[in-house]
Amino acid sequence: MTITNEIREQVRQRANFACEFCGVTETDAGSELTIDHFQPITKGGGDGLENLLYCCHRCNQYKLDYWPTHPSEPSLWNPRREPAAQHFLELDNGTLHPLTDTGAFTLKRLRLNRPPLVAYRIRKRQQAEEIRLLTRYREMVQLLEQLNTQLFILTEEQRQLLEEQRELLRLLLNAQE
Ligand SMILES: [Zn+2]
Repeated sequence: MTITNEIREQVRQRANFACEFCGVTETDAGSELTIDHFQPITKGGGDGLENLLYCCHRCNQYKLDYWPTHPSEPSLWNPRREPAAQHFLELDNGTLHPLTDTGAFTLKRLRLNRPPLVAYRIRKRQQAEEIRLLTRYREMVQLLEQLNTQLFILTEEQRQLLEEQRELLRLLLNAQE
């Protein structure tokens, strides 16, 4: 391994501190993740940044040094080249559904529907929903505050109009006497 600390840091930051295969973050994992050679060194891969991925321990363990040596062998999804949405569809129940052969193979090889990951995706969805609801709630509170302010102004205007009306009435009655 000739990966310097600087390169390691670059890979971490570029991946936003999350596994590029499954999305689990350092915070979720409770530790830093691993650096993976997409094309393994043993299969001709290099140490260049384009061949390095930030990868959780579990994905790395399942991926190992897989590399197709024959065109008939399936290839793994490269998260640095193609977005996940190209190969997978996340269902409401938190599982990934493969959209391509590469997606199907990667899903199987890296066990991307392993139960803790499915639970993790469900939790992420719930968190996103909670944030959405909270944002909506704040918007409504703000709107109510605005309405209250407007109501206060209108009430004040109504009070002034009533006073003017009473004054006019008084003048009118005085003029008739
Ligand atoms: Zn992972």
